[in-house]
Amino acid sequence: MLGLEHLPGNDALKVSLRTALHRRFPQAVLLSGPEGCGESDWAHTIAAALLCTGSGEHPCMTCASCRKMAHQTHPDFIVIDEGDSEIKVDTARRIREEAAILPNDGERKVFWIAHADRMNSSAQNALLKVLEEPPRYVFFLLTACQPGALLQTIRSRCTLYQLEPPHTTPIDTPELLEPARIFLSALARGEEYGMLLGANGLAKANKATFQQAMTILCTAVRDAALVSSGCPPLLPALATETRALAGALTTAKLLALYDHFSLLSRRAEVNASAPIQCAVLAAGAYQIGYAPRLDTSTSKLLNKNGGNTI
Ligand SMILES: [Zn+2]
Repeated sequence: MLGLEHLPGNDALKVSLRTALHRRFPQAVLLSGPEGCGESDWAHTIAAALLCTGSGEHPCMTCASCRKMAHQTHPDFIVIDEGDSEIKVDTARRIREEAAILPNDGERKVFWIAHADRMNSSAQNALLKVLEEPPRYVFFLLTACQPGALLQTIRSRCTLYQLEPPHTTPIDTPELLEPARIFLSALARGEEYGMLLGANGLAKANKATFQQAMTILCTAVRDAALVSSGCPPLLPALATETRALAGALTTAKLLALYDHFSLLSRRAEVNASAPIQCAVLAAGAYQIGYAPRLDTSTSKLLNKNGGNTI
């Protein structure tokens, strides 16, 4: 499960969701987008945000509720996913019955109805009343590739959020591809020297190119974090490396790497010294990936030295 900031694209939607989460989130949401747009990741993240009990931005990824969501053990997140099959009226009735029961853990209960457009009309009619007047603690997330297949009465009870079609990230500077490949494959194998070689190729360029290199690395580790969800990669050119990373590192480490590369990109604004960038890029990434016991993450070192905060 990823935080909102790590989900790809959809910047306008993220703003809308953050605003809604800070105010009064609609109790019935229809999230639609074309096949492969990552609706499952979005549904999980929105549900985690609604159930999160941490402080700051939701989902915080660290509270007990977020940890249960990450481990797929949250008792108040109910998934209805019947795959390619039609969703029938019995399922809709079970949803109604379940919605009448108070949450187990906290103050909210979230139902995610995947492929909601596969509900037949009896199921949709059975769901109408609870969608119209849900108990105060219940939130419904419906995802659908073809929202037009839903009855108008269902659609009118939901707040509609639209997901962008999946798109690949073009690499404007092809000369960065090979060092990025060297860096990422060495990172997947835990070889610091190979990482240094790749970092050298990425860091010797000017500031703008270095920032583009960090965007490529960010996208690659985000692709790796999303590999298991079946989401198509944004950087198909680095698909082999991202799959290797997904097999080698946990999602938490991949996201820490994402933050590391983002921080370096921001620091390039004030510090363009290539040898330092190269060393910090490789050493920091190695430390995040393979030296978890050392409590000296690059981010902390940078902050201590007056750098930016994450
Ligand atoms: Zn949380």
